[in-house]
Amino acid sequence: MENKRTRIVAGNWKMNTTYEEGKDLAQAVMDRLQPSQVKVVLAAPYTHLRIIHNMIHGVNNLFLGAQNCHESDSGAFTGEISAAMLQSTGVQYVILGHSERLEYFHESDELVAAKIDQVLRHGMIPIFCCGEKLEVREKEEHLQLVASQVTNGLSHLSQEDFSKIVVAYEPVWAIGTGKNASPKQAQDMHAHIRKTLAGHFGNDLAQKTSILYGGSVKSSNAGELFSQPDVDGGLVGGASLNAEEFVKIVTGD
Ligand code: PEP
Repeated sequence: MENKRTRIVAGNWKMNTTYEEGKDLAQAVMDRLQPSQVKVVLAAPYTHLRIIHNMIHGVNNLFLGAQNCHESDSGAFTGEISAAMLQSTGVQYVILGHSERLEYFHESDELVAAKIDQVLRHGMIPIFCCGEKLEVREKEEHLQLVASQVTNGLSHLSQEDFSKIVVAYEPVWAIGTGKNASPKQAQDMHAHIRKTLAGHFGNDLAQKTSILYGGSVKSSNAGELFSQPDVDGGLVGGASLNAEEFVKIVTGD
């Protein structure tokens, strides 16, 4: 029996596209997307958020995402963006704990947990990322590592707050490398994440949590990855910059 979890495909544009290119990309996605049960999130650069909000507002399965936010309410943090600012531009989803943030901006699990609280407090949905580096998998410590990321990032939440969270499993060795996890590797880890979540929040809530796979998703591998029983969609980087390819991933063509 197919599960009833919300299916989501989120495009992480990262630091790509100028303002005009971003508008064109959002328009090209809108032009191709058919109404469907899959929720589609466009996680655009900050500079494009408001215009894309205006463009996609009211399109039933399209949502606006951001790629990060600061953990404080406001203040002397030159160059940073707060959750309130994101919310005021119409953002609905915020990617947090992406491995590029952990690697290049030295974000800790504790910092990610604080950002999750901020995003929830402002009525937006965190897409919480977790995933192991290659050396961790080679040492066969990936299950343990990802469980600890999930525990450190989420276990402090109330049941009510946790029920809003989307999780994305993104093995670091698969991000931007063209080398995706096999459907079995993805399924095994997603089941493990769900079990870890069940340990903290109970099986009912864990069964309702959407867990996305990310790492070199393209239209040629999305169908098999997304049809695994515990995989509820994807977080897509490189392929989300091509509207045609991205929509194929969403529709499973
Ligand atoms: C990502 O950045 O979240 C990602 C999964 O990238 P890519 O699809 O390019 O591997």
